Amino acid sequence: MPSHDVIVIGAGLVGSAIALRLAQEGLRVALLEKNAPGHEASWAGAGMLSPAPDTSASIPLVPFSRASLSLYPQFIAEIEDISGRRTGYRTEGAIELLFSADAERELSTLIALHHALGLPTEPLPLDEAIKMEPEITRRARAAAYFPYEACVDNRALIEALLAAASSSGVELFPDTTARQIMIEHGRCTGVRTENGSLFEARDVIVAAGAFSRFLEGIVPRLATRPIRGQMVALRSQQPISHVIRCERGYIVPRDAAVPPQAIIATASC
Ligand SMILES: Cc1cc2nc3c(=O)[nH]c(=O)nc-3n(C[C@H](O)[C@H](O)[C@H](O)COP(=O)(O)OP(=O)(O)OC[C@H]3O[C@@H](n4cnc5c(N)ncnc54)[C@H](O)[C@@H]3O)c2cc1C
Repeated sequence: MPSHDVIVIGAGLVGSAIALRLAQEGLRVALLEKNAPGHEASWAGAGMLSPAPDTSASIPLVPFSRASLSLYPQFIAEIEDISGRRTGYRTEGAIELLFSADAERELSTLIALHHALGLPTEPLPLDEAIKMEPEITRRARAAAYFPYEACVDNRALIEALLAAASSSGVELFPDTTARQIMIEHGRCTGVRTENGSLFEARDVIVAAGAFSRFLEGIVPRLATRPIRGQMVALRSQQPISHVIRCERGYIVPRDAAVPPQAIIATASC
């Protein structure tokens, strides 16, 4: 009899959340991670929880993102409760600044698109935006407010999630690289690791993020690939409370009370 019911490959936010749920259903779960758990994209991210599409290609994902966002308050409460850790979850919303000469028209298009997608984004007069965030530049020509958006300290969340998964019975295997999904008679039977050991299970879930396509034994239906992003952690004189973004980047508030970080904001370009 296999030692586990399910093997999850990849201990990022996605794999850890799946592993936790399966363990809560009473399944014996092995979570394989090639590096330190939680230290890839889930560590690098900014933690914005935004269902708003950032390109036209992401418009079809909006209903899925809205559904996901609506589950977050309960998910966060549960993870904080099981792990005894805080995750820096905040619900103040986001402000987007527009700088182009055509900013007012751009704003109308944005609001119309968002309303059609069921997103209650609002035009935000610039003097109101400055009251909400006194440090924002006076060079913006228009602004929009996304009151429904949230953000989370993703590093605190992944650490809390891993702790919750562990205490719920998930067996975590760090420094364990899955190389190949084993298949017999058209049915998956387990995972062979880079050092040759075999994990047997009836079911295998691939949650290796951008690296998923490199596993042997699966047809890479989605051509995932890693792309580069850059983040800067800043301590500001005047802490911000909203996510602030524009076409060229974003700033995300961090709760300095959440250990182990003393980061007030992160930015990306
Ligand atoms: C700079 C940056 C900013 C971002 N900002 C945001 C944001 O503001 N909001 C947002 O929603 N998203 C953001 N994202 C995206 C978000 O971080 C990812 O969508 C999310 O973390 C993906 O989680 P994951 O578990 O799928 O992937 P990962 O966290 O990458 O986890 C996959 C895990 O699988 C492991 N793995 C890979 N191959 C193997 C193998 N063969 N065997 C065992 N383990 C393996 C990896 O080591 C890794 O730990 C950002 C990403 C980046 C890089």
